[in-house]
Amino acid sequence: MSASSRRRSVKDFQFGNKIGEGSYSTVYKAVDVYSRKVFAIKILSKAHIVKEKKIKYVNIEKQTLNRLGHHPGIVTLYYTFQDESSLFFVIDFAEYGELLTLIRKLGTLNEVSTKYYMIQLVDAIKFMHSKGVIHRDLKPENILLNHDMKLMITDFGAAKMLDENGNAEELQSNLSINSNGGSGENGDDKEKAASFVGTAEYVSPELLQHNECGYESDIWAVGCILYQFIVGLPPFKGSTEYLTFEKIIGLDYKFPNHFIPDPIKHLITNILVIDPKKRYTIKDVQEHQFFKNVPWTDFNYIWKRNPPKIE
Ligand code: ATP
Repeated sequence: MSASSRRRSVKDFQFGNKIGEGSYSTVYKAVDVYSRKVFAIKILSKAHIVKEKKIKYVNIEKQTLNRLGHHPGIVTLYYTFQDESSLFFVIDFAEYGELLTLIRKLGTLNEVSTKYYMIQLVDAIKFMHSKGVIHRDLKPENILLNHDMKLMITDFGAAKMLDENGNAEELQSNLSINSNGGSGENGDDKEKAASFVGTAEYVSPELLQHNECGYESDIWAVGCILYQFIVGLPPFKGSTEYLTFEKIIGLDYKFPNHFIPDPIKHLITNILVIDPKKRYTIKDVQEHQFFKNVPWTDFNYIWKRNPPKIE
């Protein structure tokens, strides 16, 4: 069996620096000892996942990434394996970290950079939706930048998968965890009907009010992200989660006094619409005047152009 087709294990990678830590994972930079290709490896402690009842989320992440396969705007999951204590997810390495860090460093993105990254974000979301995946937690922390500053969506732990009829797909419980703590069954199947997924600032009004979350909810997040690119902060931000939710439901946001190009304001206004049926669709977004003359079917235009000079 060739090195590329057989099942991987820890021994196949040289582990480098720790990149970061999540609430139930640690991410390391690692090199494939055969191909010398650089990856990020997310290590999840089995005991911790079982104790914190996160099996379901880990399963969702694995299954959605497998379904999405390879797309430049979405982190690819190359291999998964486990040892006695941990699960390992081998994914694309994002050399420049989170888009949030870039926004914070720059304060705001200018119009050219905003358009450059929005084109990639919209293309990646269109692909994701075409595969029946709703991300449900889109935000600048979950958008990473690769070695040549192209974006990649990550963190599919809150995602929902739909079948071709638009019905929620049953999650297969195929993650076998062999530690003492659990059998691989979901510890938290009886999710509360009104449970909140996502991050307060980017959550859609229909999720807050009616516990509905469709493709439109990802578009709502795109509107919040576009606003954040150009203004520096998300549109709805209260001092507590509750106050943030009130602002979202009341569509309580303003554009600051400094100059924001009219097409961007117009686009944001048509995405941040309370009724998901009246909200811009991904097609409306692509056809908007802000993206005039963008060749949406030209892969090279979207994914191969050099990024604008970031200053
Ligand atoms: P939580 O699970 O609590 O929401 P998280 O999603 O940030 O946190 P991880 O996905 O484990 O948790 O990521 C931990 C850190 O590693 C983050 O700072 C993230 O930016 C970074 N990171 C995650 N994936 C990659 C990657 N593929 N390349 C580079 N850095 C990454």
